[in-house]
Amino acid sequence: MRPRSEGPCRRCGRVGPLKARGLDESCYAAAHQAGQLEQYPLVQARVDLAEADRLEEEGRSTSDIALHQNVTPDALRLARWRRRQAELARDASALPPPGTPDNDDIP
Ligand SMILES: [Zn+2]
Repeated sequence: MRPRSEGPCRRCGRVGPLKARGLDESCYAAAHQAGQLEQYPLVQARVDLAEADRLEEEGRSTSDIALHQNVTPDALRLARWRRRQAELARDASALPPPGTPDNDDIP
């Protein structure tokens, strides 16, 4: 089950479970209806990858680490995936772009 974040709603200020964008269920629906969702930026999951790596080295599972950081396992996997993509992009920039023929192929 996806853990729900709790806190004060950005729209009405009532403290309780938040659906998304820092809004509770009714305010999210109301903002969606009014086309005002853009006024409420997405709340970023607070994945601490450095800590996650440390916990993983201690043998903790991904779901255990996610629970510890109060994020979903998917958020943790996504953060790791994004980091991996950034690393790959960095590595790739040192190489010629894909599809570039080797000089040997050019007559
Ligand atoms: Zn509200």
